[in-house]
Amino acid sequence: MSIAQAPERVLSTLNEDGTRHKIDPRLSHGRFLNARRVVGYGLIALFVLLPRIEIGGKPAILLDLAHREFTFFGATFRPADGFILMLFGLALVLTVFLVTALAGRVWCGWGCPQTVYMELVFRPLERLFKKRRALMWAAYAVLAVALSNVFLAYFVSADTVEAWVFGSPAAHPVGFSVVVAVSALMFFDFAYFREQMCVLACPYGRLQSVLLDEQSLIIGYDEQRGEPRGKAGKHRGKPLPVLREGVVQTLGDCVDCRACVSTCPTGIDIRRGLQMECVGCAQCIDACDAIMTKLERPRGLIRYTSKAELAGKPRRLLRARVLVYPALLAVVGVLFLVQVGERTKADVWVLRQEGAPFTLLEDGTVSTPVRVKIENRSADKRVYRVALEDTAGTRVIGARPEYPLDPGKSAIVPMFVISSRDAFDGGERDARVVISDDAGWHTSLAVTILGPETSSVKEQP
Ligand code: SF4
Ligand code: SF4
Repeated sequence: MSIAQAPERVLSTLNEDGTRHKIDPRLSHGRFLNARRVVGYGLIALFVLLPRIEIGGKPAILLDLAHREFTFFGATFRPADGFILMLFGLALVLTVFLVTALAGRVWCGWGCPQTVYMELVFRPLERLFKKRRALMWAAYAVLAVALSNVFLAYFVSADTVEAWVFGSPAAHPVGFSVVVAVSALMFFDFAYFREQMCVLACPYGRLQSVLLDEQSLIIGYDEQRGEPRGKAGKHRGKPLPVLREGVVQTLGDCVDCRACVSTCPTGIDIRRGLQMECVGCAQCIDACDAIMTKLERPRGLIRYTSKAELAGKPRRLLRARVLVYPALLAVVGVLFLVQVGERTKADVWVLRQEGAPFTLLEDGTVSTPVRVKIENRSADKRVYRVALEDTAGTRVIGARPEYPLDPGKSAIVPMFVISSRDAFDGGERDARVVISDDAGWHTSLAVTILGPETSSVKEQP
């Protein structure tokens, strides 16, 4: 054994000397491949169309980094909505935990872009251009660039990308650089890195051991039925040639054809049990079902099952984690809805005043500066007005009649409250500033109006 040799198998994608073991999985037709094609091509269509679907005048999903806005099916979130976004993220994590506990790696096999694009787009192209490699690389490059542009549309909108595509790269160097970088990464991933992304880079596979339990849905090989494996032939159904005394043993249903191994996109042998590299793509089920059908045996030697079922134990849907995750999800969901419901249409603050707190005017009245900041948190342009609630004996000067603000924009409203000198008690009086918009929304803020402590005060510093 050389010094570099591992004492046991390390990865399905590594040769014993540590070099890459290239995998060229054989396509296996069957009911799961058909179903995965429907789901996968549906997801690809959704990915391409979502930036083009408009809800309330905005793309269904837009992660506008430049304006620090996240639009999700008509609702726009800004940095001030950090708590709501955190709840959203938490709900996603809990959903992943719940789905994995129930259905294992169904996401990896059926929904993950790595599997969907690799197995349903790039691998079929490779099979199509088997003997024309240059054409295959060209097709890969065109697809990578096209998908990168769609990806960019999620950040800047599809219309912007369209305009950029027909414009000069010099006019939008950042967007152009993103497309070049993402295209290069996609090309590297789908042309070279491939299953290594699932086996080496993605952390989700490594979390399997904690997220799955013995009742979770997995793709498994029925050892009871399949073993001892052996070629279909003269020994099938007859006593095995080598017997222990008094024990009659016949071959199991696995004919050791290795169809399940040669079709596996991560190169593993599912007959060795559940492995981290298994992405749950169900290719081995289709491969084995075809063999069983040919041999006129029941399908399902490899099937969707659970560790418990394979060990002859009863299936149990209800267990602690399947109850705890939905309970936590419900709590997070309620909190999320409450927060979204209470989301104000605008944020308003009274700002700290700088300079002189008030000024005595020549006509004997007191002028107190007040500054209010308004930030439009609605998804539309709004026109704001600012007024003082108790106008008896006071008037406001300095503020404009209206403040039009685009979504996410803010303005500072400087104004002076003019009060009579005897309106103050101990050098201040309470008032409320009312802020309203043209859509009927309004709120009010408490504000302390500063003035002279006694009527004998003549001047202010
Ligand atoms: S495809 Fe089925 S019969 Fe063939 S080796 Fe795999 S498990 Fe055995
Ligand atoms: S073992 Fe089967 S389900 Fe798992 S990755 Fe390989 S082919 Fe897909």
